[in-house]
Amino acid sequence: MAYDFDFDLTKVSRSFFQKLAGFLDDKGIHRKMGNLAEEASNKFKLEEITGVPFSDTAQVVSDLADIHVRNLSQREEFKNTEDRALFLPHCSRKHMDDKCQANFNKKTSSYECVKCSSDCLVNKATEIAEKKGYDVYVLPGGSCIPKIVKSRNYDAIVGVACPNEVKMGEDYLDKSGIPHQAVPLLKNGCSETKFNLETFKKLIDTSEDTENEKVEDSFPNTLKKSVN
Ligand code: SF4
Ligand code: SF4
Repeated sequence: MAYDFDFDLTKVSRSFFQKLAGFLDDKGIHRKMGNLAEEASNKFKLEEITGVPFSDTAQVVSDLADIHVRNLSQREEFKNTEDRALFLPHCSRKHMDDKCQANFNKKTSSYECVKCSSDCLVNKATEIAEKKGYDVYVLPGGSCIPKIVKSRNYDAIVGVACPNEVKMGEDYLDKSGIPHQAVPLLKNGCSETKFNLETFKKLIDTSEDTENEKVEDSFPNTLKKSVN
């Protein structure tokens, strides 16, 4: 289910996410997420910056923090997997109409990007992921996840979607015992949505993980406590 409000965190400076990471770490990630998110939204003046009401920004921050924590907790298990699939959101395609040449696969109820536009975010992410050996599916919605997962025994899944869609997908994967990682959209709205490609690259590639760097980069550019 989509949020009933739009947000665009691409307007928020990159340092916000870095400061937020430090803030969450300082407060202790175990504290009740809702209260923490409200405090963080307030501290970083997100309502002022994004024009989105405080209660909504607090919701997004809470969901982002939840994704971050889940990425961290799943990373080691995820690293030990080989056969992986990537789920990209159809809303990040360059074209949402029939200018998008993607093929619809009835069996999986998902699209297969045919790379018709070099500046399409879905195309860019698909190319990067395919080089790393991922099977890529462009999803029209989260309801086709069980269908794809049941059609192939993937070892692990990476998903890109708005934070509340990510959470629903992860709940399903948790129940199915499939390790996962997620990249949240920074701009929602169900069309022309955006995610950070650098964050995405780091998250799908486990070969570069080090003991000290793990997946602090899994969050919007990112929730690392210290950057430089
Ligand atoms: S590059 Fe792929 S996803 Fe993007 S518009 Fe073309 S076919 Fe659709
Ligand atoms: S923003 Fe994209 S991922 Fe989120 S509900 Fe809309 S279409 Fe789905």
